[in-house]
Amino acid sequence: MNFDVNNNGFYGEFGGAFVPEMLYPNVKELQDNYLAIMHEKDFQQEYRKMLKDYVGRPSPLYLAVRLSEFYNTQVFLKREDLNHTGAHKINNTVGQILIARRLGKTRIIAETGAGQHGVATATVCALMGLKCIVYMGKLDVERQAPNVLRMKMLGADVIPVFSGNMTLKDATNEAIRDWINNPEDTHYIIGSVVGPHPYPDLVTRLQAIISEEMKWQLKEQTGNENPNYIIACVGGGSNAAGSFYHYLDNTNVRLIAVEAAGKGIDSGESAATMALGRPGILHGSKTMLMQTTDGQIIEPYSISAGLDYPGIGPIHSHLYKSGRAIFENATDEESLKAAFRLTKLEGIIPALESAHALALLDKYRFKPDDVVVINLSGRGDKDMATYIKYMEEI
Ligand SMILES: *Cc1c(COP(=O)(O)O)cnc(C)c1O
Repeated sequence: MNFDVNNNGFYGEFGGAFVPEMLYPNVKELQDNYLAIMHEKDFQQEYRKMLKDYVGRPSPLYLAVRLSEFYNTQVFLKREDLNHTGAHKINNTVGQILIARRLGKTRIIAETGAGQHGVATATVCALMGLKCIVYMGKLDVERQAPNVLRMKMLGADVIPVFSGNMTLKDATNEAIRDWINNPEDTHYIIGSVVGPHPYPDLVTRLQAIISEEMKWQLKEQTGNENPNYIIACVGGGSNAAGSFYHYLDNTNVRLIAVEAAGKGIDSGESAATMALGRPGILHGSKTMLMQTTDGQIIEPYSISAGLDYPGIGPIHSHLYKSGRAIFENATDEESLKAAFRLTKLEGIIPALESAHALALLDKYRFKPDDVVVINLSGRGDKDMATYIKYMEEI
């Protein structure tokens, strides 16, 4: 089985680059150059140095002793929550800004929903002294005020989008429009393993640092670089793709992706794409999508803004179809419980997104000697208002 993208940007039947003709030159420039740039020694040195000195990598692999006792198995947490800006997203923006500079771009655009990718993008733009424009649905601008303030302090222009539902999908359309109008000087930093080829592959490779580190860290701590399970939450799928990447060809390692079930798969308020979706085209690639019988995108719902996406990266559609990864889901309620459990037992407040991966510990029975790695994609500071509200309800 082959899990690499092919020359046309496909993973099996999924992926590709379905873009309007006017966008083609921009996408083509990136397709033609991204691998050559990423293989340059000079790029690798600079990327690695920034990951180490600016992001704070390697992120620790932590044996969660009390959590392991509670579940009677061996749980390791990959601590992406300890990265600068509090999540895995910066691994990608650091890499893409270095590529943008090598392509001679001076202006960066991005879309954001919850604002986390917008903050990670504004951060590296400040670092490099590049102009940064972040498109954000008007509704999200209101809902995510603290992240909007962060982006502004970092020097980004946050442009509210008033079309459609005024959320992420509309912000993405606006960013694409901007890119069409500014083909020369602008690079578009996409925040997950979605969009037209080469973005899914580019972002996967930049997040693959997660599983690269896992290998030597597991070897160091357990004597074996292979765990029995790797578990990660999935919105677009970048932290999961990065956690799985170096284990894709090793079928002894079971890969589990956890989607947001929201209020339940059958509630009509969910974001579990694999459970509810079928193939379609969104944001330039063919992938599994939540859609009506006549192909209209269904508005997704999750308590965690980072998982609230109606599609999923094409690599994951392929991993699902081929059976290489298992796709599960966790509800809002199950994830909140898992977040409180981790906090109480380990003194770590996880992002609500990451709590969906933790919730799987209540759904599977692992063996006492199983090594279970959970990718803790981010920290929970941004979710405090939700956590406090839930605490008051129970
Ligand atoms: C954005 C985000 C996610 C979801 O994005 P993926 O591309 O699926 O990884 C998950 N966790 C955190 C903390 C995030 O900020």
